[in-house]
Amino acid sequence: MLDKIVDGPEGWTGIEANEEWAAEVRRLAAERNAVILAHNYEIPEIQDIAHFTGDSLGLSRIAATTDADVIVFCGVHFMAESAKILSPEKTVLIPDERAGCSLADSITAEQLQEWKDEHPEALVVSYVNTTAEVKALTDVCCTSSNAVDIVNSLPADKEILFNPDQFLGAHVKRESGRENIRIWAGECHVHAGISGRDLVEITEANPDADLYIHPECGCANSAIYLAGEGLVEKERVHLLSTGQMIDEAKNQGTGTVLVATEVGMLHQLRQTAPEIDFQPVNERASCSYMKMITPAALLRALALGTDEVDVPAETADAARQSLERMIAVGQSGLGE
Ligand code: SF4
Repeated sequence: MLDKIVDGPEGWTGIEANEEWAAEVRRLAAERNAVILAHNYEIPEIQDIAHFTGDSLGLSRIAATTDADVIVFCGVHFMAESAKILSPEKTVLIPDERAGCSLADSITAEQLQEWKDEHPEALVVSYVNTTAEVKALTDVCCTSSNAVDIVNSLPADKEILFNPDQFLGAHVKRESGRENIRIWAGECHVHAGISGRDLVEITEANPDADLYIHPECGCANSAIYLAGEGLVEKERVHLLSTGQMIDEAKNQGTGTVLVATEVGMLHQLRQTAPEIDFQPVNERASCSYMKMITPAALLRALALGTDEVDVPAETADAARQSLERMIAVGQSGLGE
């Protein structure tokens, strides 16, 4: 099958996700003693063939405890890096190393160092959607579900540099009530593209629906505004990480739920609670980086042992500390 794989503008293609492909993926995974992890934003075929599907940090935790020799991380590059940081002795493969992240790219280690130099007394809080180099310059990491707890755990008189997501930063500032937070103006192009206008239109068309909103979304502020104005009942607005969305869906019952995050999430939600009508707030909110993990790329990774993810030991040690400080705060939460 390998000779059918071609490299094109959308990544590795040429392979259909049929039974023959699935059998070969399973055979190669067993041969390598590999565990396949897939993020909730991957295409359904990749989510379904994976041994585990979930959010970024939940998958990294599985990576840290698995007996497998090889971890095949079907997600974007910073996620595979986090798996390597938490499991340095294991081989970590990403099916296509070109699968980046516009949010992680919105701050570099050099930019963060300059920002720190301007505010030498401040503590740095970084969302897990950052490179290993940025994590290595960070005091404590956070996820979308524990960001408020992390900021509240830091001394009230200490200034905080929060990066890279401006929408999550605004949410944290509002919820913590702290004024001494500086927020980096980064964003994910997919989440930022889910606008307040999208939200208003779809809530008007579905007046009884609940809303599941990822706090990275451009529409998160609009949702809080709509609830504050009484246009949407507060009880219907749920700001949730992707892992929390799954938990919420299990207790939702029936009805319609409008989902504001990357559309790949709908596959897991519909499988978890098939009796609920899940609808995307913006059906075009699709991450092209996540979709680079194609059936061909996964097959290639398992057959050839590509693309291996490595993080220099010094960077990994410093980055691990910022992740471990997050876990020590308590409820470690779930990632994107
Ligand atoms: S959806 Fe946005 S934050 Fe998530 S991987 Fe894609 S670009 Fe990055």
